[in-house]
Amino acid sequence: MFDCVYPTRTARFGTALVPGGELNLKLQRFAKDFRPIDENCKCPTCVRYSRSHIYHIIRKETAACHMISTHNVAHQMNLMKSIRESILENRFPKFIEDFMIQMFPNKDYPSWAVDALKSVNIHLPS
Ligand SMILES: [Zn+2]
Repeated sequence: MFDCVYPTRTARFGTALVPGGELNLKLQRFAKDFRPIDENCKCPTCVRYSRSHIYHIIRKETAACHMISTHNVAHQMNLMKSIRESILENRFPKFIEDFMIQMFPNKDYPSWAVDALKSVNIHLPS
C-alpha cells in the first residue's frame, strides 16, 4: 500500500517501517538505543532523533507519532524511488527478489505474494 494511510496509521501504533520490516518503538529494548530509526534515512526524524528519544516520549507526546509518520512516509517514498530506478535500469525482478529476501530471510514468503509474482513471471528463490 503506497498511499499515506499505511505509514501514518502504522506510526500511530508506534511502529516504524525499516528495510526488512518494522520496529515497534514502544518496546523496552529501544530505551537505550541511540541510533536513528534507520541509519541510512535522511528524513528529519532520523537526522535529529534517536530510537531512545522516541521510546521515552511515545506514551506522553503525540509528537512521537508525528515523528514516526514523517519517517514512515519518507521510507515509502524512498522505496518507491528504488522501485522506479530498478524499472528504468531493467532490473525490477532482481529488486523484488532482494526485497523479498530482506523481508523474509527464512524464505517463508506469503503464498499470495508468491502467486502474484508468478503471475507476472517473477519467481522467488526457494
Ligand atoms: Zn527516517
